[in-house]
Amino acid sequence: MRFDTRLIHEGQSPDPLTGAVNVPIYLSSTFRQSAPDVHQGYVYSRSGNPTRAALEKTLAALEGGRAGLAFSSGLGALATLLEAYPSGSRIVSEVDLYGGTWRLFEHHRRQFGLRVEYVDMRRLDRVRAALREKTDLVYLETPTNPLLRIVDISAVVRLARAAHVPVAVDNTFATPALQRPLELGADIVLHSMTKYLGGHSDIVGGALVVRGAKDAEQLAWLQNAVGAVPSPFDCFLVLRGIHTLGVRMRAHGASAAAVAEVLERHRKVRAVHYPGLSSHPEHALARRQMDGYGGIVSVEIPGGTSAVLRFLSHLKVFTLAESLGGVESLVDHPATMTHASVPRAEREAHGVTEGLVRLSCGIEDPADLADDVRSALGAV
Ligand SMILES: *Cc1c(COP(=O)(O)O)cnc(C)c1O
Repeated sequence: MRFDTRLIHEGQSPDPLTGAVNVPIYLSSTFRQSAPDVHQGYVYSRSGNPTRAALEKTLAALEGGRAGLAFSSGLGALATLLEAYPSGSRIVSEVDLYGGTWRLFEHHRRQFGLRVEYVDMRRLDRVRAALREKTDLVYLETPTNPLLRIVDISAVVRLARAAHVPVAVDNTFATPALQRPLELGADIVLHSMTKYLGGHSDIVGGALVVRGAKDAEQLAWLQNAVGAVPSPFDCFLVLRGIHTLGVRMRAHGASAAAVAEVLERHRKVRAVHYPGLSSHPEHALARRQMDGYGGIVSVEIPGGTSAVLRFLSHLKVFTLAESLGGVESLVDHPATMTHASVPRAEREAHGVTEGLVRLSCGIEDPADLADDVRSALGAV
């Protein structure tokens, strides 16, 4: 079956007990056993819950993985994955990353002996050079947050395979509707379900989807041992969000294209970053690797902080808030909001400047979003 059909039916057949077309929310922390250790597959809801199991099965099917594992947040998923990398492990990571990912690597796990080396993965020679030293994991986002760079997943996988290193891809920005890293050879996919998978800015959640049997077993064990699991209610909301993922991603893409076009032509803009623009340096790669370009656009506004503040305060449809991927449009100032934990020098060295603004284009009428951006720029 095709992707949009699978979004609605995969992992979610009608409830055998009642015929309910939606997966019920099983609000039960524990499950009766007819004799010690004799049960119907569920024992305790940290270890497994039927609503969560339906979501996990759906996630695995959509990403083309062996197993899906749901977590209480994207960072809960990442922290659990990192439990598999003990002191002395080395990760080679893309440099443009979600700020919270950087914070977990540098402010937390570094003191427990994890080493992370950051490279611009658009430069494959740099990936190859970084892999000369013994490496335990390659970690990347694409499109990257917040600069919307595109990394060639297949090419990085080829280099990593040659060095016998697994590859994990944060697929939050693209979702499986636009990009399926496991099909391109990656071993692990990570999601913040808070964003497009949930899609309505009403839950916080995360996920891992894995290809290999050994990873599936180890990470399922860690999911239960560490315990950062989502509630059945949140799992239900993500399942409901996934039903409309296809139509939403197409609408987000149309909105972002309209906004990017206004920004690209505007004289008060220094640079626009959107992989759907033919001027984007990796546009051809994005076209090959993705089935659409997503809903996030970032823009550099000259004139320092005061110009940015004027732009932000004149937006009427875009709401100033952290997060992205919901039906409503949101705007973020990475330097002071989502990426504030990255030191200024490091941030600016790779392009996250004071003038950078990240727009999450929602599914409102694209013309209203384009008008909103145009008139706010007029006030700068
Ligand atoms: C938000 C986000 C995360 C973290 O997810 P939470 O659900 O907020 O913990 C990780 N990666 C990316 C790309 C994100 O946008």
